[in-house]
Amino acid sequence: MGSSPLHIAVIGSGIGGLTAAIALQAKGFQVDVYDQASELSAIGAGIALGGNGVRVLDELGLGPAVRAAASNLPRIQFHHWQSGDIFYEHPMGDWYDERFGGPFLGIHRGDMHQVLLDAFDGEPQLGRRAAAVHESPDGAEVEFADGSKVQADVVIGADGLRSVIRHHVTGPDEPVFSAMSCFRGLVPAQKVPGADTMGLTFMLGPGRHLVIYPVRGGELINFVAYVPDPEWTLESWSSKSEPAEAVAAFDGWNDTVVSMLSNVEEVGRWALYDREPLRKWSTERVTLLGDAAHPMLPHAGQGSNQAIEDVAALAHYLSADGLATAEALQKYEQLRKARTRQIQMGSRGNAACFQLPDGPPADERNARLVSLADNVAWIHGYNVYADLQEEK
Ligand SMILES: Cc1cc2nc3c(=O)[nH]c(=O)nc-3n(C[C@H](O)[C@H](O)[C@H](O)COP(=O)(O)OP(=O)(O)OC[C@H]3O[C@@H](n4cnc5c(N)ncnc54)[C@H](O)[C@@H]3O)c2cc1C
Repeated sequence: MGSSPLHIAVIGSGIGGLTAAIALQAKGFQVDVYDQASELSAIGAGIALGGNGVRVLDELGLGPAVRAAASNLPRIQFHHWQSGDIFYEHPMGDWYDERFGGPFLGIHRGDMHQVLLDAFDGEPQLGRRAAAVHESPDGAEVEFADGSKVQADVVIGADGLRSVIRHHVTGPDEPVFSAMSCFRGLVPAQKVPGADTMGLTFMLGPGRHLVIYPVRGGELINFVAYVPDPEWTLESWSSKSEPAEAVAAFDGWNDTVVSMLSNVEEVGRWALYDREPLRKWSTERVTLLGDAAHPMLPHAGQGSNQAIEDVAALAHYLSADGLATAEALQKYEQLRKARTRQIQMGSRGNAACFQLPDGPPADERNARLVSLADNVAWIHGYNVYADLQEEK
């Protein structure tokens, strides 16, 4: 870097944008974050962080705060939808940490955002909806919907599934609707049977499934309940649903599911989209990160983890000696494209596998779970810093 640090404008203050801002500040850049939201509100859902993401958070010095706010999930269990019987179980906790080089954590999204906001030196500028980007050889200008403009040396589009910055980089493309939606909510642990020993819990049944795990040190149980739904097309934290609809969608399921859904006070409903993988993530001065670059269905639990991995690579190349900005952005996308594409495609495939009807194909799937840890090692055990080291 020269004497005057690059000015970087990050569009979006989600997990990807804020983590990027923290990492880039640590490298000495001048960073501003802009978000269209008019206020930062606590988001009522959980997120699972794998060893691959936590490794990066550790490197950024965020590990202790994240661990303190989260639940370290002690085990993984797969249950039959109707009987509730466990058909596969494996320890996580210390075992997972040693195998994959970091813990598997369940964290409330609001808690995760707070950790990131505390670590960012500054405040995201709210009510700033990016509408367009204009580039020149010397820099880029972001134009906001309110008519204001900012100049920056580099613009990072961390503006999620419906990214405006993506449109600038690659031209138009549309989100792909999965014809599936999910109910999401948080329930006090004392209202969920077996919550005190609960880890990462899958309930698998014909055409639907749930993923359940504790957050906030076990105080709350987070659930995501997936259902087929070609009609529900809203994806917004504000699209509320009636708890009774979730209960009805899981009629006949085991007691844990029914009693958990019956005790939730507020349920969000979220249509699930991804996009086709991109060939190109960057121009000379503008790049993409997180869901803006590679939105994926949640069935591998990796969207945020991949955004966090992106951050490590982008901060590394932008601060590498002797790399011009455009070259740094090219190296960043070259490192990240194949891996994120593979996880995007894998996430699409997982839902069908989770939702098999009872019978021989489901029995075969269940039998294959003994190899689960080996099968996901390339995702959870991945060390982005090792790849960056090899690149030098
Ligand atoms: C049901 C479900 C469960 C999931 N579970 C997991 C999980 O367990 N683990 C995991 O790793 N991932 C999970 N994910 C994926 C994860 O939520 C996303 O991948 C992640 O939040 C993406 O972060 P991001 O910062 O890239 O984008 P976002 O979180 O979408 O943030 C984008 C930000 O940009 C802002 N913005 C948008 N447009 C503009 C604009 N034009 N101008 C200014 N600001 C703008 C938005 O207001 C927002 O704050 C899950 C997703 C779903 C739907």
